[in-house]
Amino acid sequence: MATPALQRYRDKRDFTRTPEPAHGGVADEARPAFVVQKHWATRLHYDLRLELEGTMKSWAVPKGPSLDPADRRMAVPTEDHPIAYNEFEGVIPKGNYGAGQVIVWDKGFWHPLQDPHRGWREGKLKFELHGYKLRGVWNLVRMKAQDDGRPQAWLLIKDRDAYARPASAFSVTEALPQSVHALPDLPD
Ligand code: MN
Repeated sequence: MATPALQRYRDKRDFTRTPEPAHGGVADEARPAFVVQKHWATRLHYDLRLELEGTMKSWAVPKGPSLDPADRRMAVPTEDHPIAYNEFEGVIPKGNYGAGQVIVWDKGFWHPLQDPHRGWREGKLKFELHGYKLRGVWNLVRMKAQDDGRPQAWLLIKDRDAYARPASAFSVTEALPQSVHALPDLPD
């Protein structure tokens, strides 16, 4: 089923040429999904997606998440993705939008700590992540508008809690670089 929210997603892709899903996936408002896909496109980045309002709200995080609350990781909003995209791992062929390899780096569900609809509109989301690599409380905060016409970037910031770790001691992206499906203790 096509939803208007996915128009930008579909406009960017030719589904006869990319293995990415055109649509699909099942919404779960009680346990909304989150995923982080590691994407070797023109530049390596991490795509953070949070299920909200029937699609995956998406941000490209060039440096990936950090468990250190002192790190403010740039998160550039990208087009909504279908929920079915959460399962996608593979190679987007050369010549297509986002060409390069994609792996599911982390997945699970997220739990908004404030009204997520209002937070999405106002640019301030506070939430818990229940993933295999990312846990605890996180913030996504939209920065003030720039005059250059680029989309307003957000910042991804770990909150101070038991899951926070100083960057000098631990880098989650360096320590756990592989697909979440490669973790030895991943339950089905
Ligand atoms: Mn990407």
